[in-house]
Amino acid sequence: MDMVIRNATLVTHKETFRGEIGIQAGKIAKIGERISEGVITIDASGKLIFPGIIDAHTHMETPVKGYVSSDDFSTGTKAAAAGGVTTIIDFTIQAKGQSLKESIEERKRQANGRVYIDYALHCNLTDFNVSFLREIPEIIASGITSFKVFMAYRNEGIMVSNENLKLLLKETRKYGGLVQVHAENGFLLDYLVEKAIQRGNTSPLFHPKTRPNYVEEEAGVRAIVLAEEVGGNLYLVHLSTREAVEAVKWGKERGVKIFAETCPQYLLLTEEVYQWDDASYYITSPPLRSEEDKEALWQGIREGTIDVVATDHCPFTRAQKDGGKDIFFETPNGLPGVETLFPLIYSEGAVKRGLSPNKLVELLAYNPAKIFGLYPRKGAITEGSDADLVIFNPEKEMKIRANELHMNLDFSPYEGLTIKGIPELTISRGEIIYEQGNFPASQGRGKFVPTTPTH
Ligand SMILES: [Zn+2]
Repeated sequence: MDMVIRNATLVTHKETFRGEIGIQAGKIAKIGERISEGVITIDASGKLIFPGIIDAHTHMETPVKGYVSSDDFSTGTKAAAAGGVTTIIDFTIQAKGQSLKESIEERKRQANGRVYIDYALHCNLTDFNVSFLREIPEIIASGITSFKVFMAYRNEGIMVSNENLKLLLKETRKYGGLVQVHAENGFLLDYLVEKAIQRGNTSPLFHPKTRPNYVEEEAGVRAIVLAEEVGGNLYLVHLSTREAVEAVKWGKERGVKIFAETCPQYLLLTEEVYQWDDASYYITSPPLRSEEDKEALWQGIREGTIDVVATDHCPFTRAQKDGGKDIFFETPNGLPGVETLFPLIYSEGAVKRGLSPNKLVELLAYNPAKIFGLYPRKGAITEGSDADLVIFNPEKEMKIRANELHMNLDFSPYEGLTIKGIPELTISRGEIIYEQGNFPASQGRGKFVPTTPTH
């Protein structure tokens, strides 16, 4: 064996058990007892072994309002490795008039040669020229099975119409793909933003006020109804409100094929941040919500209404955020997250709220792998799977400090928060890529992983 991990407590989405893992040629070759020597032998006594975490929602080096998110594919995936993330699913960026296929090739050129971990892609569809439907079968066959649209951002010219959303849901289901929706009603929120501007209400406090809960609820319900109508596969990104959780629950009960995601920021933070001096640093869309919404999201997780926790990692430095200071609609939207995803959800979800470690695997690895077609290559600890593993110390505590994290950023929304449980060693396809502050792997070793249609 190339590597053997001994004295391990393995955590999968359905069980926790003692055993040894033998790794050969980048794959998990054997799980059992007394596996013969490895070239490298790791003693994991007292540690938990998780499958590598999949962050199904990241935006590396992505333009937003004239700024570019501060992590590129290199810094962002290196930081991801430190957080136990072994796969990200990022998004293509479609320029006006650009074919989807070209946008995919362009994004791959940006990532390849720079990523430390493996990556897959969601195909952003922001320019609905006549040919977009024709490209779908070929794109799905090439290993990109999810398509993302925005029900907001009308002024930016990227808002999807109801007709196009319905067409896309119908077309993708034919080939087993799915449609990801940013569910905020663009007409309603643009109206509220314009009214706020007319009244001179431009401080960050008006960011949440111009995106009230019903804006998300209405769009979420509409997407669910359209998915039901055509039998489409729908994935709602970054749920933030109790009403949206109820809508997803309602849809699932009706048998609509819906998956729902929320993010650490909605599970840990509330709108009180918009009262603070550095309020503009917390501008993200949808905005942070009330305590009641936060609790409804945790309940949605416990009940299985919410399937995935991913980050929407889209970091901006203090200087970038300051560029739009006091004018909420000019501040680049987004929060960091890829490096802190796993430890935050472990600490807040498992330690504080009693979720089982198996439930965390479901939310952070198994479900994203199943939904997006990476399973069982990723998201699993089984013989034949990629040897993507995290050795996790459940006892160690850490205080979050932006300057001690590895993201290309001088700000953390969780500054000063003490968390319990941290990833100590990350293995990607059998190679140690992170070990207690060190990064023995080289940039560019990560690969594009095609997803397969599963719906
Ligand atoms: Zn996003």
